[in-house]
Amino acid sequence: MEKVNILVIGAGAVGLSLAKVLSEKFEDVVVVEKEESFGRHTSSRNSEVIHSGIYYPQNSLKARLCVEGVNLLYDFAKENDVPFNNCGKLVVATCEEEIPELTELKENGERNGVKGLEIIDRLKCRELEPQIKAIKALKVDSTGILDTHKLMQKLATIDEEQDAFLVYEMEVCSIEKSSNSYIVKFTNDEVFEANIVINSAGLHADKIAQMVGIDIKKHDLTLHWCKGEYYKTSKIKNIKRLIYPVPTTISLGIHLTVNLAGDCRFGPNAYYVDEINYAMDETHKDAFFESIQKYINIEKDWLQLDDCGVRAKLQKPDEKFRDFYIQEESEKGFPNFINLIGIESPGLTSCLSIAEEVKRMLKN
Ligand SMILES: Cc1cc2nc3c(=O)[nH]c(=O)nc-3n(C[C@H](O)[C@H](O)[C@H](O)COP(=O)(O)OP(=O)(O)OC[C@H]3O[C@@H](n4cnc5c(N)ncnc54)[C@H](O)[C@@H]3O)c2cc1C
Repeated sequence: MEKVNILVIGAGAVGLSLAKVLSEKFEDVVVVEKEESFGRHTSSRNSEVIHSGIYYPQNSLKARLCVEGVNLLYDFAKENDVPFNNCGKLVVATCEEEIPELTELKENGERNGVKGLEIIDRLKCRELEPQIKAIKALKVDSTGILDTHKLMQKLATIDEEQDAFLVYEMEVCSIEKSSNSYIVKFTNDEVFEANIVINSAGLHADKIAQMVGIDIKKHDLTLHWCKGEYYKTSKIKNIKRLIYPVPTTISLGIHLTVNLAGDCRFGPNAYYVDEINYAMDETHKDAFFESIQKYINIEKDWLQLDDCGVRAKLQKPDEKFRDFYIQEESEKGFPNFINLIGIESPGLTSCLSIAEEVKRMLKN
């Protein structure tokens, strides 16, 4: 049986960040990942946007860790040559009824500590983004995009330089609490004993919590999977900023992102699913077209299927908001077991601040 000090389950952006931050302070950090490499799920199937923190309720973990995470992520990208572009974004109102939402977002963002938010009129919008149809917009300067693959690659390199181990093709299938540690078993019959376990298993984090003995129904920690698809086009050029509609209750709306090569991509939509299946068809193409053409002129046949991802949501279809769940589980009878559940957007933006939060918990 292998003995380790800190066992992190899951090598997505969050698990890799945990290994970086924790191995600066603690000995013997090991990340186990069921796939053959890092970042095979949500961390490589998203919009790659560094969010500002305007959307989340004041004092929520999402608000705090997003605002903290933006700066950590830009600094990390600068120091480690991870390609990024702090291009900013416009949240656009396309009809009168949407204007109050812009004001609400601005006020909410300011309460969360987001700097430099400005509501701009039609003329200014046209000056900044001539192709965009908007009667007003909220200009958000701290938003940006980054290359998530390079981010994870760099994190993995630093992890290993700091003597954290990344072990692939290791799928956790059971966890048992013993007197002062946890016995973790894998589908390949390996067994690890860990002093501290951190559950960063993304879409399966609720199942991992269940394995140790936490009643996820009673504690309302069941994850609900919510798929998001993307379309791309090569027909639209020269958009400089990211363009967002006003948000819906379950997503930020079908937005336009421009990747580091300058190509336009639209999405994601949002619908709850029962299985993780990354196949795509054109069922939702009409709905995409309807949403997009409100803020930019486009032809339906310009849209080509791109890719998709699945959100790990604690929020049920009829709920308004659920926060990240980041908890050391002594109160439930599992000391030194830390759960990270419902790490949906802005989880990429917050990957390093989530890791700092966990480090603070361990120090306490
Ligand atoms: C469509 C979409 C768009 C998004 N856009 C953005 C955005 O623009 N900006 C932003 O900030 N956030 C965004 N997000 C959210 C962001 O992508 C996630 O919050 C973040 O990637 C979560 O990282 P993670 O490491 O927790 O999860 P993951 O990347 O899913 O990693 C979890 C890992 O755990 C592993 N694992 C699971 N079970 C086991 C097991 N039993 N044993 C071993 N390993 C296991 C998995 O294989 C996986 O590699 C988006 C999400 C989606 C779906």
